[in-house]
Amino acid sequence: MKSASEPLPTPTGLAGTTRSAALFAEARELIPGGVNSPVRAFDSVGGTPRFMQEARGSRMTDVDGNSYIDLVCSWGPMIHGHAHPEIVDAVRETAARGLSFGTPAAGEVDLAREIISRTSVEEVRLVNSGTEATMSAARLARGFTGRTKVVKFSGCYHGHVDALLADAGSGVATFALPDSPGVTGATANDTIVVPYNDIEAVRLVFANHGSEIACVITEAAAGNMGTVPPLPGFNEELRTLCSDNGALLVVDEVMTGFRAGERGWWGIDGVAGDLTTFGKVMSGGLPAAAFGGRADVMSHLAPAGPVYQAGTLAGNPVAVAAGLKSLQLADHSCYYTLQTNADRLEDLLGNALHAAGVAHTVQRAGTMLSVFFTDQQVTDYAGAAAAESFRYAPFFNTLLDRGVYAPPSAFETWFVSTALTDDDFQHIADALPVAAEAAAAATPPEGAR
Ligand SMILES: *Cc1c(COP(=O)(O)O)cnc(C)c1O
Repeated sequence: MKSASEPLPTPTGLAGTTRSAALFAEARELIPGGVNSPVRAFDSVGGTPRFMQEARGSRMTDVDGNSYIDLVCSWGPMIHGHAHPEIVDAVRETAARGLSFGTPAAGEVDLAREIISRTSVEEVRLVNSGTEATMSAARLARGFTGRTKVVKFSGCYHGHVDALLADAGSGVATFALPDSPGVTGATANDTIVVPYNDIEAVRLVFANHGSEIACVITEAAAGNMGTVPPLPGFNEELRTLCSDNGALLVVDEVMTGFRAGERGWWGIDGVAGDLTTFGKVMSGGLPAAAFGGRADVMSHLAPAGPVYQAGTLAGNPVAVAAGLKSLQLADHSCYYTLQTNADRLEDLLGNALHAAGVAHTVQRAGTMLSVFFTDQQVTDYAGAAAAESFRYAPFFNTLLDRGVYAPPSAFETWFVSTALTDDDFQHIADALPVAAEAAAAATPPEGAR
């Protein structure tokens, strides 16, 4: 293994893709679509998904020897950059003492305390993925309230939970149709989808179904349709509507938690969910997530209460060690650097696209950001979908060829780490104008307009 003091590899995407392409062909014979999570397949940007071999600091190296400046950070978790020596040491030391006990262990208490000390939650339970966290939160909300319906927002992603995959798109509040085959109509029927940032639509749903609604679940700041922060007052009004109607507010901070800021989005707008979900950053890059909230609600969970929830590997000692060390390292100066790096990236993106004459808006939610190819502010999924997303594939691929790894979809958030160097920003600054020209030259697909 390379030491942390060795120089980072020079970014280049021009070493070819022979080995990645061969592995992808092999993978497609063995794994559906060749990947273990869909966006990794590059479906919306074309080309060969890069099989990574190693990552350190701000850079990832693939099996063909290309090196990339990473602006995805494993979809959020790697705020300190890759293979941070202190996190790797914590993992190594813990692993040497046993990989899993299936019993309580001290690290779980430390991680729970760390999460509780930074957030509004009074008690927390550890799980293995963000999906599990939101699934469990929805079950607990139903068990606690004795109600069935869940309200979610179009364009908000809460993992692949059946009840939360429904997404009726824009328009008036409506009973959802299942978004994926395999989700039953009965499940989808208990999910009500409304446009994001549309408080009147939520009001209407409560007027019509108030006594049936177990919870409203929302991303603290939306990051899964690109970055779309809540409009001023939106989360506050959700809080009020839920309280007034005896429903729980579930704030999904799987992405924003310890990423948007030191105390997650709660540290920014102060709106406390009755339940809050966490994942990504608090995992340190290993499989771990959590949900927590009011003690009187959490006490309904087994074994304290009747709502069942469990996990063979929940609170896994190695994952807990990585998450705990990651949070311990995430101090004021870490977030100052993340914020500065996000500012720098935002400026570079804006300047390059402006110079190329491409209509765009760069949106921010704390240290999260994304680019929409429209000059309108995007406040909901309809707005995100109306942007000229056909410009994204050439933009993305031009960056990739120059060793800059942006998210392989127009509807994903860009994530910076504290490991980005001046050198990295210079490299990004050199690559962006070419990518912006490629975006400017893109033409809409046949049939569109
Ligand atoms: C990533 C994400 C999830 C799902 O987490 P997984 O660990 O991928 O299951 C849930 N909610 C939000 C807001 C997310 O960004």
